[in-house]
Amino acid sequence: MDCVIKQTNGTTAVAVATPAGLVTGEQLAKIAELVKQGAGLAKFTTGQRIVILTGADQVQAVRDGLAEVGLSIGPGGKTIRNVKGCAGSLCRYSAQDGLQDALALDKIFAGRSMPATLKIAVSGCPRNCMESQSNDIGFVGTPSGYKVYVGGRGGRKQVLGQLIREGVKPEDLPALVEEIIAKYLSATKGKERISHVVEKQGVEIFK
Ligand code: SF4
Repeated sequence: MDCVIKQTNGTTAVAVATPAGLVTGEQLAKIAELVKQGAGLAKFTTGQRIVILTGADQVQAVRDGLAEVGLSIGPGGKTIRNVKGCAGSLCRYSAQDGLQDALALDKIFAGRSMPATLKIAVSGCPRNCMESQSNDIGFVGTPSGYKVYVGGRGGRKQVLGQLIREGVKPEDLPALVEEIIAKYLSATKGKERISHVVEKQGVEIFK
């Protein structure tokens, strides 16, 4: 489900999928062009995406323009959202490459339909710039691998994710995310997020 949302000022917000907040100059120039053709404003989101404010009749034109530079409209609603990642190995503090590992996860999981919103964030070291424990699945890099947290969320009732694994190697992250999702899908009832499942059934089912 594309993230296209009517705004109170009559514009339509179109969220551009920019996994881990990474864009090229060419992509940024195209986004700027689409912003100028729309309502003249864009907004950066907490999900490391850029929202273009435009007219409802311009959504297809935005989609086509984004495709010209290898971009697309990001997923919204009950899906796995674009994966958030820190600066990773570009950062002098990194213990793991939170940027490349986030991009790799995004390729596999972003846009997959879920019973509820599912957010994933990857931080490359314990400084935890991505606030990983505030996401449904969060990773924090250490020299021995990633610490893995589940059940975090923001919103009206904020919950911190709980630790389920340590020392997970980057190449094992996709399989572990698949495992967490499978456990979530077999445990959830209706529209529960992972935090609801943890609250009702305990974090042990994810260990
Ligand atoms: S989480 Fe660590 S590695 Fe990532 S940007 Fe922050 S300080 Fe750097």
